[in-house]
Amino acid sequence: MPGQLFIVATPIGNLGDISERAKSTLASVDAVLCEDTRVTAKLMSVLGIKKTLISYHQHSSLKKTDEILQRLNNGDKLALVTDAGTPGISDPGGRLIEAVNAKLHDRIEMIPIPGPNAAIATLSISGFPTDKFTFLGFPPHKKKRTEFFTIVKNSVWTAVFYESTHRIIKTLEQLSEAIGDRPIVVGRELTKLHETIYRGTAAEVTKQLESTSIKGEFVIVIAPK
Ligand code: SAM
Repeated sequence: MPGQLFIVATPIGNLGDISERAKSTLASVDAVLCEDTRVTAKLMSVLGIKKTLISYHQHSSLKKTDEILQRLNNGDKLALVTDAGTPGISDPGGRLIEAVNAKLHDRIEMIPIPGPNAAIATLSISGFPTDKFTFLGFPPHKKKRTEFFTIVKNSVWTAVFYESTHRIIKTLEQLSEAIGDRPIVVGRELTKLHETIYRGTAAEVTKQLESTSIKGEFVIVIAPK
């Protein structure tokens, strides 16, 4: 039997969003590769599934990647999950998926188990055109930041990107300078207790956030030019 790697999407907050197929897949594999074993251990405990958890994150060594490739080559069935959402979308899952694709694509099966994704969830309630959109991951921290906001400014499609609590205000301020009064939607803590959707210009949303809370995880959606 060829090895199988299941790319399993997990909730972005609300555990009720786990799919039946994600559960049965996690229950059926030989081991689960995860970004943070503590986060995945909690999920597995809620699901009542006991499996070997193998940590795989952005600092994992090449040796670790090779060991995983070897297991797949030997016919193992593995699942890849990350801390939240769809593995590979702006998270460390992408590295392993790339390595498997480059070295083993003709020898093993890679199977997506679709589910939650923070960008898609926010786009779905944005009210902006979503027949085409540009996904930009996280803004760069230093170099290329100006270029990033120029791309957003010039986007003829709805643009969407991620931001953390540490940089949200700085990012919204820079976004405001770039796009002025163009409308945006910000999703904070989606599917969680403090889920909040902010709408307005970047300057208005900054004020709303400062007067409520800047804690949590954010997705920013910008109307097209
Ligand atoms: N792979 C994930 C996905 O499918 O959405 C994204 C992983 S990325 C490392 C983490 C970022 O996604 C966070 O910094 C935040 O911008 C966004 N994010 C994840 N969960 C979120 C949530 N519940 N509400 C808002 N944004 C979220």
